Amino acid sequence: METFDVVIVGGGPGGSAAALAAARSGASVVLLEADKQLGGNAARSTGYVAFADFDMQGDIGADDSPEQYLADMQAEIDRQKHRYGLIFDVDLAQRYAEDSAATYQELVELGFRFDRFLPRPVQHTVDRMVSVADTAMFTACFESALADAGVDVRYKTRAVRLLQDDDRISGVVSDTCRRFGAANGVILAAGGYQANPDLRSRFQPEAKASTPYLGTEFCRGDGHLMGLAVGGDLINMTMIPPLVMVGSALVEDAIAVNRHGRRFHDEAGPYDDRVAALEAQSDQQAWYVFDNRIAQEKAQLVDEMPEPAVSGTDAAELAAAIGCDANSLSQTLGRWNQTAQSGTNRDPEFGRVIFGEPRTGIVEPPLWAAPMVVGINFPAGGFRVSADMQVLDVFGDAIPGLYAVGDCVGGVSPAIGLGGVKITAALTLGRIAGRAVANGQQ
Ligand SMILES: Cc1cc2nc3c(=O)[nH]c(=O)nc-3n(C[C@H](O)[C@H](O)[C@H](O)COP(=O)(O)OP(=O)(O)OC[C@H]3O[C@@H](n4cnc5c(N)ncnc54)[C@H](O)[C@@H]3O)c2cc1C
Repeated sequence: METFDVVIVGGGPGGSAAALAAARSGASVVLLEADKQLGGNAARSTGYVAFADFDMQGDIGADDSPEQYLADMQAEIDRQKHRYGLIFDVDLAQRYAEDSAATYQELVELGFRFDRFLPRPVQHTVDRMVSVADTAMFTACFESALADAGVDVRYKTRAVRLLQDDDRISGVVSDTCRRFGAANGVILAAGGYQANPDLRSRFQPEAKASTPYLGTEFCRGDGHLMGLAVGGDLINMTMIPPLVMVGSALVEDAIAVNRHGRRFHDEAGPYDDRVAALEAQSDQQAWYVFDNRIAQEKAQLVDEMPEPAVSGTDAAELAAAIGCDANSLSQTLGRWNQTAQSGTNRDPEFGRVIFGEPRTGIVEPPLWAAPMVVGINFPAGGFRVSADMQVLDVFGDAIPGLYAVGDCVGGVSPAIGLGGVKITAALTLGRIAGRAVANGQQ
């Protein structure tokens, strides 16, 4: 058996941040990654991140604080709590909000670049959500930082069981029966359980448990199962919110039209409102419409849509392809293009505040339409943890030597609908876990 101070299972933002912090605190670290690269779902995401009171907010004069961020998370929980049985860990959320600005700073030092603020006034009461310029940075920046810090990264290595020595977690076993000993502790950073319909069906009705999902196939709930097997307390597992499957960066440049060729909602509004608006259409059918410039520039996002897009040389041809009224579609596009080109910050029809740049509208032929499909991306369930990210059992006692971060943690995740919370919390609380386990806390 090879032995390290710290063994980390998974190299998404949570595991990568934890590994970096642990190694920089002097621990020997091995990071086991089932995939052939780091980055996890963050590398496949829209790359929206949200920090409180950070440098970029100074540039736009935004007045923010960790207290305000926490209040916005609490408001989001209040919006969701009638839908799911939720446990929101206020102390953990506060710690995350307080340390989030330091995460921004760390990302800048690692070479991350950010391009702009994304307003979401219903959820973030001040502008604090920004997008990373390229989500490949979650792979490249961490690969080089972990190499510099001396972290031993083992790719294509899937952890499947925890090792226990008396009551203490002492390492992990891989699917090829390799054993990795952990003198200080193991951090579960294996992401969520989205890609595991069997596991989802324990917490969702059967028909919903197999709806599509856009992220990595490796999020099979391995971390959840390994921790559960040694007594970890899973919370918020039923919160697997439905959402319309589409990259947010594609929505910025698209409108959605129904069978009548008309818009029917704020396409960039809260995720659950979008689902409700789609389900309220008479045949539950609608399409994202965008032009050829976007089809070319955002080809990867278009390819990732659950169903293929169709095209037409103009509004009439596109209307025929999707079976909607041609005049109506043409008028809808005309109105939208006027709104986009006017430079207004708020769409008068549905209050939308997100517009693609440049503000040219949907004009360049051929025009495209991709069906709207409901699926999931982010489940909220994970372990209850201590302030140092140690996994707790159902009695609230810490399991010696076992830590969890990112989507393996449940306490902050129900605030998902805010936007940007998942990646930023994974990075921020990952750093806290890395330091704690390196310092050998029990
Ligand atoms: C399409 C999409 C868009 C998203 N957009 C956003 C966004 O804009 N903003 C936001 O905040 N959140 C977003 N999210 C959610 C966000 O990406 C995740 O919440 C976040 O990446 C979780 O970080 P993590 O480190 O916990 O896990 P992940 O990023 O899921 O990484 C887990 C890693 O663990 C590895 N792994 C899994 N099992 C094992 C095992 N047994 N052994 C070894 N390795 C294993 C996986 O291969 C993976 O690399 C999005 C998610 C999806 C799917």
